[in-house]
Amino acid sequence: MLRSAMVRDLRILAYHRVLSIEDEDAFGFDLDLVSASAEQFRAQMEWLRRHYVPIRFRDVIEAWEQGRSLSPKSVIVTFDDGYDDNYRIAFPILQELGVPATFFVSTGHVDSGRAYAYDWLVHMLVHSPAARLRIGELEIEEALPESRSARRLVAARLLDRMKWLDAGLQSTIIEGLEHEWGMPRESGHPDCRPVNWDQLREMQAAGMEIGSHGIWHNMLAKLPAQAMLAEVAESKLTIDRELLADTDVISYPVGGHDAYNNAVIDAVRESGYRLGCSYVAGTSQVPRQPEFELRRLPIERHMDQAWFASLLGIPEAFTYPSRQRIG
Ligand SMILES: [Zn+2]
Repeated sequence: MLRSAMVRDLRILAYHRVLSIEDEDAFGFDLDLVSASAEQFRAQMEWLRRHYVPIRFRDVIEAWEQGRSLSPKSVIVTFDDGYDDNYRIAFPILQELGVPATFFVSTGHVDSGRAYAYDWLVHMLVHSPAARLRIGELEIEEALPESRSARRLVAARLLDRMKWLDAGLQSTIIEGLEHEWGMPRESGHPDCRPVNWDQLREMQAAGMEIGSHGIWHNMLAKLPAQAMLAEVAESKLTIDRELLADTDVISYPVGGHDAYNNAVIDAVRESGYRLGCSYVAGTSQVPRQPEFELRRLPIERHMDQAWFASLLGIPEAFTYPSRQRIG
């Protein structure tokens, strides 16, 4: 019973970065944000094209407006954050295979080229010459391990704790370490670059859909009301202006249950969006009206092709509570 009910659900895949990494230990940023290598991604999209019907959120809205049903095989491919590998690596593969996708971008990063805060925090922890980590706000005072892999674990633990804090305090902590360790985010890094508007225009012209992921990738529920409203409304205005579009869809940065709430959903509705995605694992019924808590199926780089096929075939078997650290 459960299975037949869920097969009619809409599967929305959630990717972050697509990158082939030769030496994981040498990679200076958050490996958990790498959803697939170029080779894995190509195989996944080939599978999708052969066995499913890839669509965009716009197609969902058109179907409900016209009273049509979508194919039960409909799948939406989404990307969060807007890393430039989405343009360099994923986009050519999608284009070649004729698979449309939706890219959720944080407009402040697209405008400025500035690196993403959480990823920069991981970068600093992996590379810092400091022997100790001191964060007064969290009463942390501990030795930093030598190895990069051990430092990645420190970073993962720290990010888990930070995501309970309000957005201002999260920024204060990250900026404090940038200052203390002399590793300003403005210095940037080629492995942590956002897409730019010209790239997004090219992707849009090729049939890709661009949605909002806020302005500065803040957890919207952790912001004061005015700042939250601004992130929701202004990110849409910016995308609409830059891409001559009318953006229908947003995904909440980080996206777990503590990243959005009713006030966020009200702001999203009032700003003119018609669909919103969380990062809560699962499928959702095909929306027939505005819907702001769509669930997604996160793709991670350790999944092999059999896992990917099973995730699509029997998503209910895979919709365990995710770590929800990213999004
Ligand atoms: Zn994100």
